[in-house]
Amino acid sequence: MPVLSVPRELREFAQVFSSAGKKCFFVGGALRDSLLGRPVNDWDAATDARPEEVLGLFRKVIPTGIKHGTVTVLWKGWSVETTTFRTEAGYSDARRPDQVAFGASLEEDLERRDFTVNAMAFDPLEGRLVDIHGGQKDLAARLIRAVGEPAKRFDEDGLRTLRAVRFASQLDFEIEPATLAAIPGALARLSGVSAERLRDELERILLSPRPSKGLRLMEETGILGLVLPELLACRGVEQKGLHVFDVLDHLYASVDASAQSGEDLVLRLAALLHDIGKPRAKAIGEDGIPTFYRHEEYSARMAAELMRRLRFPNATTEAVVHLVAQHMFFYEPAWTDAAVRRFVARVGRDSVEALFALRRADTSGMAGIPADPRLLDPFRERIEAILKAEDALGIKDLAVGGRDLAEIGIPKGPAMGRILSELLETVLDDPAQNSRGTLLGIAGKIKGKYGVSP
Ligand code: ATP
Ligand code: MG
Repeated sequence: MPVLSVPRELREFAQVFSSAGKKCFFVGGALRDSLLGRPVNDWDAATDARPEEVLGLFRKVIPTGIKHGTVTVLWKGWSVETTTFRTEAGYSDARRPDQVAFGASLEEDLERRDFTVNAMAFDPLEGRLVDIHGGQKDLAARLIRAVGEPAKRFDEDGLRTLRAVRFASQLDFEIEPATLAAIPGALARLSGVSAERLRDELERILLSPRPSKGLRLMEETGILGLVLPELLACRGVEQKGLHVFDVLDHLYASVDASAQSGEDLVLRLAALLHDIGKPRAKAIGEDGIPTFYRHEEYSARMAAELMRRLRFPNATTEAVVHLVAQHMFFYEPAWTDAAVRRFVARVGRDSVEALFALRRADTSGMAGIPADPRLLDPFRERIEAILKAEDALGIKDLAVGGRDLAEIGIPKGPAMGRILSELLETVLDDPAQNSRGTLLGIAGKIKGKYGVSP
């Protein structure tokens, strides 16, 4: 196993505490990740100095969560979350401890942490690793094990159940059997956890190298039914054609395949949610074969609802919903240029590559066989040719604008919007029509149809 090496500036950081007669340990994820030889996100410190004392020791300190004993120290290009040793008592709201008691020992501080692999501490000046709970042993065995009695720890904070799944998924570890067995009994506690905290963990599961690992653990423990019931409803929904999986296994396989396109949360969410409307859209044809007409519309609506519930930022939700809504395109070489222009106008030129990546994930998820990445090349070439021609693809590219239309007596408002849309349709069909004279002529002829008096 790799040895712990703390960056030089951070040893100097610890020196500041020691010169003041205080202790400083590095704790948590940084130790876990560096012992695994993984890149370290951030170095968190724990100290017996009280938050006010830490404020006095450094020039740049942000009082991030001073009530809970946490401040962020900016030090030589690093930003170190520094928390005073503490114990926690009373978790009545399943979220934040009611009281935080300072004046605790390092041992007590480690006892309140969630999993053994997260409950080690390292003194960089003495080079001493404090590992009371067997974190190194569990790292070697690749196990996520609760510190102390699992049921009690999950009852203190319901989010820990989902965190166990998240770490197993991120690190490709197993959850130790007694820890795993305690999760179903703690779901009532998990249901009291805020949407934001659930979302943060879900994001990290989806950004794992193989997200299905975490998703299957969620399903197995009952967490999926609680947090993402729309997905659980896809279990057992069988499909025909090229599909060999039911809808849920197809979604798992698609999300795993989407990991081939980098760490793209929007794409992973779109891959996970693109078919969630299938159970509702399902109908049985006369031949007994199930159909899922317009399932992308159901899926898009349900994805929007699900993501709002989990408080995803609006921009993320919109991007995911757009990809889900557009995922059922079927290009054929017989498409006219007008059809290609309509496609780009509808999808948006900036979303084409993301939609293609979603298609690749979707195709790969049908039987778990990676799709040929060149499959969409002919379509991509057609699109590139269209973009090169710089023809109008949106209302803002038209040779006339609202002001021009106002001059011929079309007032601002919904009618003007509809007239501009019809002009765009005309120009998508035939780019040669995109001149001021021609479009004003057409607008004059059609305005009556939209209730504008001649
Ligand atoms: P990551 O690399 O994903 O940030 P991390 O281990 O640093 O992983 P954080 O959520 O940043 O995870 O938490 C830092 C440390 O605080 C954890 O390693 C763990 O010791 C402790 N911790 C965090 N959340 C909890 C919790 N809900 N219950 C108990 N201990 C926790
Ligand atoms: Mg962290």
